[in-house]
Amino acid sequence: MAQQDYYQTLGVGRQAGEEEIRKAYRKLARKHHPDLNPGDKASEDRFKKVQEAYDILSDSKKKQMYDQYGFYSENGAPGTGPGGAQQGPNMGFGGFDFSEAYTRAAGRGRPSASDASGAAGFHDIFSQWFGNQQESAGSVPEKGTDLEYGLSIDFWQAIKGTQVRLKIAHQEVCTTCSGTGARTGANTVCPECNGSGTVTQMAGAMRFSLTCPKCEGTGRLRNRCATCHGDGRISAQETVEVRIPPGAQQGSRLRVAGKGNAGTHGAPPGDLYITVRVDPHPFFRRDGDDIEITVPVRIDEAGLGTKIEVPTIDGRALLKIPQGTKNGQKFRLREKGVLNSRTSARGDQIVEVAIDAPLVKDERTKELLREYARLHPEDPRAEIWTKV
Ligand SMILES: [Zn+2]
Ligand SMILES: [Zn+2]
Repeated sequence: MAQQDYYQTLGVGRQAGEEEIRKAYRKLARKHHPDLNPGDKASEDRFKKVQEAYDILSDSKKKQMYDQYGFYSENGAPGTGPGGAQQGPNMGFGGFDFSEAYTRAAGRGRPSASDASGAAGFHDIFSQWFGNQQESAGSVPEKGTDLEYGLSIDFWQAIKGTQVRLKIAHQEVCTTCSGTGARTGANTVCPECNGSGTVTQMAGAMRFSLTCPKCEGTGRLRNRCATCHGDGRISAQETVEVRIPPGAQQGSRLRVAGKGNAGTHGAPPGDLYITVRVDPHPFFRRDGDDIEITVPVRIDEAGLGTKIEVPTIDGRALLKIPQGTKNGQKFRLREKGVLNSRTSARGDQIVEVAIDAPLVKDERTKELLREYARLHPEDPRAEIWTKV
């Protein structure tokens, strides 16, 4: 704000006393108060100047500095460091409770400016200094937040891909106010600063003039939209069609752009992230793009070698079991795994052999196994004993 002649603003002479200054201020404040001049920008500016002038001239210390140097600065007089101007505790609005006077005119009750400023402690002041935007966040456009959604699909949906309809609960732009949060029509004077755009706060013996946090210095508050209560957004359910590409893995994360929460005051919306959970299959296991399966093999099949049919995700496939196959041995069926939609390549299927010990009850089979033992008397644990 350009430096103004405070005496001229209030229309008083340089020798004007305390009482004369107060009277001039009352008269001008009443005349230019935004409540009485809705929408009049010139009047509003005038009102701010009148308040600033009174703020300085009603305060003996500030007035003294202004008279001496031709300006007043919160940082103190020229040549002294910050806080060099000695400030006493009684430097608030002197004597005139002006919010009360205009409350009657506007027909509604408001907290007075002096109450609001007097109650503020160090925390409030310093949080403002260091950029705590919490109080004013309501009118600053902010991108909408992202949303996370967990989606369970079964084994086959993950492999082949699928299309799902999700009901998403999120914040949408309020249609009543088109996201502005404001009701159409006149706005009102900020009750925090009575339209001046600045508030005065005390911290011990120090006194600060701050941009009003409620209206961010505009002096006006918008009438809130009745539907969204000023937020510009409403909670709503939306059905979102999501295509899960083939080859989705456990924990795959899909981004659906723009389907998160709506932004405030016209800011863009956030995104929707869908994390895929794949339900387990009774036999097939996924290891990335590979499919694993454990198949039981009879003792004679393992010993003599054979060809067996094993299930794959494409249907049956033949697998050669060589002579002397051991329990736990793995065989690879190339390109029988999952088609990866990103790489267009297929994984393999890994078949693990589980040799089934026969549950023998009949004498004939028992005799065959005893015969086998006589032919192979070697200790199968011999290697273990050499290393224990
Ligand atoms: Zn609204
Ligand atoms: Zn305000």
